[in-house]
Amino acid sequence: MNKEEYKLYIDNVIRRVEFARVRFDEKHIVKIVAISKYSTSDEIKELYEIGQRAFGENKVQDLKTKSDELDELPLEWHFVGNLQKNKINNLLDINPTLFHSLDSLELAYELQKKLLSRDMTLNALLQINSAKEESKHGVMPEVAVQIYNQIKKECPNITLRGVMSIGAHTDDKKVIKKSFDITYGIYKELDGADICSMGMSGDFELAIECGSNMIRLGSIMFNK
Ligand SMILES: *Cc1c(COP(=O)(O)O)cnc(C)c1O
Repeated sequence: MNKEEYKLYIDNVIRRVEFARVRFDEKHIVKIVAISKYSTSDEIKELYEIGQRAFGENKVQDLKTKSDELDELPLEWHFVGNLQKNKINNLLDINPTLFHSLDSLELAYELQKKLLSRDMTLNALLQINSAKEESKHGVMPEVAVQIYNQIKKECPNITLRGVMSIGAHTDDKKVIKKSFDITYGIYKELDGADICSMGMSGDFELAIECGSNMIRLGSIMFNK
């Protein structure tokens, strides 16, 4: 695709987001985070040139490499992957705009210690394993609100903004919808939360119809 074709292609993705958000609520606003984990820095630059600003990675090393390579562009970087304790310092060195995948109280305590010693804060979302899948990270829905409030109380350097979830891994739309409804239900119970991050290339319209206001689009944004 040349630049003009790519622009039309992305316009169409945005149109799909637009139709879905109006089905939820006319005033509902949805932000797209382009997940660049399968893409090169050159490809990120092409997408930036047609207007995309927010990008995300799921490995700390890739986030570092690409954010360094694209240092001169005014991009916003998100981290959406599993964070191992021994990588916390590397992530904080990058100081991402938003950490989507805070998935346990234990990790929150470790993060808090490191943030405090650096005298910095970090925007984060609590990841919910709303489909209760063994292969997925995140806290169980039953305890999510309690853990969220506990982190808020005990980890003052973590600025909790809401929740993140990955839709159920199935082709059954009803099951996927249920996992989004559960996440949105938790989000609505939280005091002051403003980000509900759910929906990927295969299920973003459904996620938006369930109330998502931040979608993480990888393959579809890079036409892979
Ligand atoms: C890879 C990834 C995405 C994007 O996936 P696509 O299906 O390519 O849109 C979104 N969220 C997380 C956490 C990911 O790891």
